[in-house]
Amino acid sequence: MRVVSFFNDYSEEQSCKAFFKSRRESFGMSCRNCGSVNLNWNEKESRWRCKECNFATGLK
Ligand SMILES: [Zn+2]
Repeated sequence: MRVVSFFNDYSEEQSCKAFFKSRRESFGMSCRNCGSVNLNWNEKESRWRCKECNFATGLK
């Protein structure tokens, strides 16, 4: 029972992140530090990393 609820919470968190990610991308992403639009999504950190200055942009 606990295992099942753990996986439910996990997949909800994943779809929540995916929702924020696609919403942010639909607005157009740019680095808040240098203004570059060359950003890489970092799955591990759940945030974007600027290819130019490595500045991290979070989901919120
Ligand atoms: Zn940058």
